[in-house]
Amino acid sequence: THFGYETIPEAEKQGRVAGVFTNVAESYDKMNDLMSLGVHRLWKDYFVSTLNPGATTPLGQPQKILDVAGGTGDIAFRMLHNAHVLNGNPNIELTISDINPAMLEVGRQRSLALPAEQQSCISFLEANAETLPSSIQDNSLDLYTVAFGIRNFTNMRAALKEAHRVLKPGGIFACLEFSKVDRFPLFNAVYKQWSFSAIPLIGQLVAGDRDSYQYLVESIERFPTQVEFRDMIVEAGFDVAGEGYENLTGGIAAIHRGIKP
Ligand code: SAM
Repeated sequence: THFGYETIPEAEKQGRVAGVFTNVAESYDKMNDLMSLGVHRLWKDYFVSTLNPGATTPLGQPQKILDVAGGTGDIAFRMLHNAHVLNGNPNIELTISDINPAMLEVGRQRSLALPAEQQSCISFLEANAETLPSSIQDNSLDLYTVAFGIRNFTNMRAALKEAHRVLKPGGIFACLEFSKVDRFPLFNAVYKQWSFSAIPLIGQLVAGDRDSYQYLVESIERFPTQVEFRDMIVEAGFDVAGEGYENLTGGIAAIHRGIKP
Protein backbone atom coordinates (compact mmCIF):
# COMPACT_ATOMS: atom_id res chain seq x y z
CA THR A 1 0.00 0.00 0.00
CA HIS A 2 1.34 3.46 -0.81
CA PHE A 3 0.04 6.38 1.15
CA GLY A 4 0.86 9.23 -1.23
CA TYR A 5 -0.95 11.68 0.94
CA GLU A 6 -0.46 14.85 -1.06
CA THR A 7 -3.06 13.39 -3.40
CA ILE A 8 -5.61 12.21 -0.85
CA PRO A 9 -8.27 14.35 0.82
CA GLU A 10 -7.40 15.84 4.23
CA ALA A 11 -10.01 13.93 6.19
CA GLU A 12 -8.77 10.71 4.71
CA LYS A 13 -5.15 11.50 5.60
CA GLN A 14 -6.16 12.26 9.17
CA GLY A 15 -8.03 8.97 9.33
CA ARG A 16 -5.00 7.07 8.08
CA VAL A 17 -2.65 8.74 10.51
CA ALA A 18 -5.08 7.93 13.32
CA GLY A 19 -5.21 4.32 12.15
CA VAL A 20 -1.44 4.03 12.03
CA PHE A 21 -0.95 5.28 15.59
CA THR A 22 -3.82 3.29 17.02
CA ASN A 23 -2.26 0.20 15.47
CA VAL A 24 1.23 0.95 16.70
CA ALA A 25 0.50 2.42 20.18
CA GLU A 26 1.25 -0.78 22.11
CA SER A 27 4.38 -1.71 20.17
CA TYR A 28 5.51 1.88 19.60
CA ASP A 29 8.32 2.08 22.16
CA LYS A 30 9.85 -1.28 21.30
CA MET A 31 9.64 -0.50 17.59
CA ASN A 32 11.45 2.83 18.04
CA ASP A 33 14.36 1.01 19.60
CA LEU A 34 14.50 -1.57 16.84
CA MET A 35 14.06 0.81 13.94
CA SER A 36 16.62 3.34 15.12
CA LEU A 37 18.93 0.75 16.74
CA GLY A 38 18.37 2.65 19.99
CA VAL A 39 19.64 5.94 18.62
CA HIS A 40 16.28 7.74 19.10
CA ARG A 41 17.02 7.70 22.84
CA LEU A 42 20.25 9.63 22.29
CA TRP A 43 18.52 12.14 20.01
CA LYS A 44 15.77 12.68 22.56
CA ASP A 45 18.28 13.06 25.43
CA TYR A 46 20.24 15.58 23.42
CA PHE A 47 17.12 17.48 22.27
CA VAL A 48 15.95 17.91 25.87
CA SER A 49 19.41 18.80 27.16
CA THR A 50 19.71 21.65 24.62
CA LEU A 51 16.36 23.03 25.83
CA ASN A 52 17.40 22.57 29.44
CA PRO A 53 13.89 22.80 30.93
CA GLY A 54 13.71 24.20 34.43
CA ALA A 55 16.81 26.38 33.95
CA THR A 56 14.97 29.63 34.57
CA THR A 57 16.59 32.87 35.65
CA PRO A 58 16.24 33.29 38.50
CA LEU A 59 16.09 29.57 39.24
CA GLY A 60 12.75 28.23 40.43
CA GLN A 61 10.56 30.45 38.27
CA PRO A 62 7.45 28.72 36.91
CA GLN A 63 7.70 27.34 33.39
CA LYS A 64 4.78 26.32 31.20
CA ILE A 65 5.52 23.68 28.61
CA LEU A 66 3.41 22.00 25.94
CA ASP A 67 4.65 18.78 24.34
CA VAL A 68 2.62 18.39 21.16
CA ALA A 69 2.17 14.96 19.56
CA GLY A 70 3.61 13.85 22.88
CA GLY A 71 2.41 10.29 22.37
CA THR A 72 3.83 7.96 24.92
CA GLY A 73 5.66 10.67 26.89
CA ASP A 74 9.29 10.17 25.84
CA ILE A 75 10.07 13.87 25.54
CA ALA A 76 7.84 15.04 28.39
CA PHE A 77 9.32 12.61 30.94
CA ARG A 78 12.84 13.64 29.99
CA MET A 79 11.90 17.32 30.38
CA LEU A 80 10.49 16.67 33.84
CA HIS A 81 13.63 14.81 34.87
CA ASN A 82 15.78 17.64 33.53
CA ALA A 83 13.79 20.28 35.44
CA HIS A 84 13.28 18.42 38.73
CA VAL A 85 16.49 16.46 39.08
CA LEU A 86 19.14 18.30 37.08
CA ASN A 87 17.93 21.85 37.72
CA GLY A 88 16.12 21.33 41.01
CA ASN A 89 13.15 23.26 39.66
CA PRO A 90 9.84 21.47 40.26
CA ASN A 91 7.89 24.55 39.27
CA ILE A 92 6.90 23.11 35.89
CA GLU A 93 3.50 22.83 34.31
CA LEU A 94 3.68 20.33 31.48
CA THR A 95 0.86 19.37 29.14
CA ILE A 96 1.25 16.30 26.94
CA SER A 97 -1.09 16.63 24.00
CA ASP A 98 -1.78 14.18 21.20
CA ILE A 99 -4.55 13.65 18.71
CA ASN A 100 -4.60 9.95 19.44
CA PRO A 101 -6.21 8.68 22.67
CA ALA A 102 -4.49 5.28 22.37
CA MET A 103 -1.03 6.90 22.36
CA LEU A 104 -2.00 9.20 25.26
CA GLU A 105 -3.24 6.21 27.24
CA VAL A 106 0.13 4.48 26.88
CA GLY A 107 1.73 7.74 28.09
CA ARG A 108 -0.62 7.95 31.05
CA GLN A 109 0.19 4.38 32.09
CA ARG A 110 3.92 5.00 31.77
CA SER A 111 3.67 8.22 33.80
CA LEU A 112 2.52 6.20 36.83
CA ALA A 113 6.10 5.00 37.26
CA LEU A 114 7.38 8.57 37.72
CA PRO A 115 8.03 10.08 41.17
CA ALA A 116 4.81 11.55 42.58
CA GLU A 117 6.10 15.14 42.48
CA GLN A 118 6.77 14.74 38.75
CA GLN A 119 3.38 13.13 38.09
CA SER A 120 1.65 16.07 39.69
CA CYS A 121 3.17 18.43 37.10
CA ILE A 122 1.69 16.62 34.09
CA SER A 123 -1.66 16.88 32.41
CA PHE A 124 -2.85 15.05 29.32
CA LEU A 125 -4.83 16.67 26.54
CA GLU A 126 -6.39 15.10 23.49
CA ALA A 127 -5.95 17.76 20.81
CA ASN A 128 -5.15 18.33 17.18
CA ALA A 129 -1.97 20.41 16.87
CA GLU A 130 -3.52 22.33 13.98
CA THR A 131 -6.40 23.62 16.09
CA LEU A 132 -5.37 23.68 19.73
CA PRO A 133 -8.27 24.25 22.11
CA SER A 134 -8.86 27.74 23.51
CA SER A 135 -7.97 26.39 26.98
CA ILE A 136 -4.40 26.87 25.75
CA GLN A 137 -4.41 30.63 25.71
CA ASP A 138 -2.58 33.04 23.44
CA ASN A 139 0.89 34.06 24.71
CA SER A 140 0.74 31.58 27.58
CA LEU A 141 3.64 29.13 27.10
CA ASP A 142 7.40 29.28 27.65
CA LEU A 143 8.23 26.23 25.58
CA TYR A 144 6.52 24.24 22.82
CA THR A 145 8.07 20.92 21.82
CA VAL A 146 7.16 18.51 19.05
CA ALA A 147 9.22 15.38 18.41
CA PHE A 148 8.67 13.04 15.50
CA GLY A 149 5.15 14.40 15.21
CA ILE A 150 4.95 17.28 12.78
CA ARG A 151 5.56 15.25 9.64
CA ASN A 152 2.30 13.45 10.36
CA PHE A 153 0.26 16.62 10.45
CA THR A 154 -2.05 17.31 7.53
CA ASN A 155 -1.36 21.03 7.68
CA MET A 156 2.06 21.79 9.15
CA ARG A 157 1.69 25.53 8.51
CA ALA A 158 -1.49 25.64 10.59
CA ALA A 159 0.31 23.84 13.42
CA LEU A 160 3.23 26.30 13.27
CA LYS A 161 0.76 29.20 13.44
CA GLU A 162 -0.85 27.63 16.50
CA ALA A 163 2.57 27.18 18.11
CA HIS A 164 3.23 30.86 17.50
CA ARG A 165 -0.16 31.83 18.94
CA VAL A 166 0.22 29.96 22.24
CA LEU A 167 3.86 30.88 22.96
CA LYS A 168 4.72 33.98 24.98
CA PRO A 169 6.98 36.56 23.35
CA GLY A 170 10.42 35.10 23.99
CA GLY A 171 8.96 31.60 24.10
CA ILE A 172 10.68 28.77 22.26
CA PHE A 173 9.41 26.46 19.55
CA ALA A 174 11.54 23.30 19.31
CA CYS A 175 11.09 20.44 16.90
CA LEU A 176 12.93 17.11 16.62
CA GLU A 177 12.12 15.33 13.39
CA PHE A 178 13.52 12.96 10.81
CA SER A 179 15.25 14.93 8.12
CA LYS A 180 17.53 14.57 5.12
CA VAL A 181 21.02 13.13 4.89
CA ASP A 182 22.44 15.67 2.48
CA ARG A 183 26.23 15.49 2.47
CA PHE A 184 27.11 11.79 2.70
CA PRO A 185 25.92 9.83 -0.37
CA LEU A 186 27.20 6.43 0.77
CA PHE A 187 25.76 6.79 4.27
CA ASN A 188 22.51 7.95 2.69
CA ALA A 189 22.37 4.87 0.45
CA VAL A 190 22.79 2.54 3.44
CA TYR A 191 20.20 4.50 5.43
CA LYS A 192 17.67 4.40 2.54
CA GLN A 193 18.17 0.68 2.15
CA TRP A 194 17.58 0.25 5.87
CA SER A 195 14.42 2.37 5.87
CA PHE A 196 12.77 0.98 2.80
CA SER A 197 13.62 -2.69 3.32
CA ALA A 198 14.28 -3.36 6.96
CA ILE A 199 11.77 -1.10 8.70
CA PRO A 200 8.59 -2.40 7.01
CA LEU A 201 9.89 -5.95 7.55
CA ILE A 202 10.57 -5.34 11.26
CA GLY A 203 7.07 -3.80 11.44
CA GLN A 204 5.60 -6.92 9.96
CA LEU A 205 7.55 -9.32 12.17
CA VAL A 206 7.41 -7.47 15.48
CA ALA A 207 4.17 -5.48 15.31
CA GLY A 208 2.34 -7.59 12.73
CA ASP A 209 1.72 -4.44 10.74
CA ARG A 210 3.75 -3.81 7.62
CA ASP A 211 1.58 -1.00 6.21
CA SER A 212 1.83 1.31 9.21
CA TYR A 213 5.62 1.15 9.16
CA GLN A 214 5.69 1.56 5.40
CA TYR A 215 3.66 4.74 5.98
CA LEU A 216 6.20 5.98 8.56
CA VAL A 217 9.08 5.50 6.14
CA GLU A 218 7.25 7.26 3.33
CA SER A 219 6.27 10.16 5.54
CA ILE A 220 9.97 10.71 6.33
CA GLU A 221 10.74 10.73 2.62
CA ARG A 222 8.08 13.37 1.93
CA PHE A 223 9.06 15.70 4.77
CA PRO A 224 10.69 19.01 3.65
CA THR A 225 14.44 19.53 3.76
CA GLN A 226 16.09 21.23 6.74
CA VAL A 227 16.17 24.56 4.91
CA GLU A 228 12.59 24.35 3.59
CA PHE A 229 11.28 23.53 7.05
CA ARG A 230 13.34 26.34 8.62
CA ASP A 231 11.75 28.72 6.10
CA MET A 232 8.28 27.53 7.11
CA ILE A 233 9.12 28.28 10.76
CA VAL A 234 10.24 31.77 9.79
CA GLU A 235 7.07 32.28 7.69
CA ALA A 236 5.00 31.41 10.76
CA GLY A 237 6.57 34.42 12.49
CA PHE A 238 9.50 32.97 14.44
CA ASP A 239 13.04 34.28 14.60
CA VAL A 240 15.81 31.73 14.18
CA ALA A 241 19.44 31.84 15.23
CA GLY A 242 22.12 31.01 12.65
CA GLU A 243 20.93 28.37 10.18
CA GLY A 244 17.94 27.65 12.39
CA TYR A 245 18.59 23.93 12.62
CA GLU A 246 21.09 21.36 13.80
CA ASN A 247 21.63 17.99 12.13
CA LEU A 248 21.86 14.81 14.19
CA THR A 249 23.56 11.66 12.87
CA GLY A 250 24.39 13.21 9.51
CA GLY A 251 20.88 14.60 9.06
CA ILE A 252 18.85 11.44 9.70
CA ALA A 253 17.20 13.67 12.28
CA ALA A 254 17.36 17.41 12.85
CA ILE A 255 16.46 19.89 15.57
CA HIS A 256 14.78 23.12 14.50
CA ARG A 257 14.29 25.97 16.90
CA GLY A 258 12.46 29.26 16.67
CA ILE A 259 11.85 32.05 19.13
CA LYS A 260 8.68 34.13 19.16
CA PRO A 261 9.70 37.77 18.90
N1 SAM B 1 6.69 12.63 20.59
C1 SAM B 1 6.64 11.19 20.77
C2 SAM B 1 8.00 10.60 20.66
O1 SAM B 1 8.93 11.32 20.29
O2 SAM B 1 8.19 9.41 20.93
C3 SAM B 1 5.63 10.53 19.82
C4 SAM B 1 5.90 10.61 18.35
S1 SAM B 1 4.81 9.65 17.36
C5 SAM B 1 5.91 9.11 16.06
C6 SAM B 1 3.82 10.80 16.49
C7 SAM B 1 2.58 11.24 17.26
O3 SAM B 1 1.95 12.30 16.53
C8 SAM B 1 1.53 10.15 17.42
O4 SAM B 1 1.30 9.93 18.78
C9 SAM B 1 0.31 10.73 16.71
O5 SAM B 1 -0.92 10.38 17.30
C10 SAM B 1 0.58 12.22 16.81
N2 SAM B 1 -0.16 13.05 15.83
C11 SAM B 1 -0.34 12.83 14.52
N3 SAM B 1 -1.07 13.83 13.96
C12 SAM B 1 -1.33 14.72 14.95
C13 SAM B 1 -2.01 15.99 15.01
N4 SAM B 1 -2.58 16.52 13.92
N5 SAM B 1 -2.09 16.62 16.20
C14 SAM B 1 -1.50 16.09 17.30
N6 SAM B 1 -0.84 14.91 17.32
C15 SAM B 1 -0.75 14.24 16.16
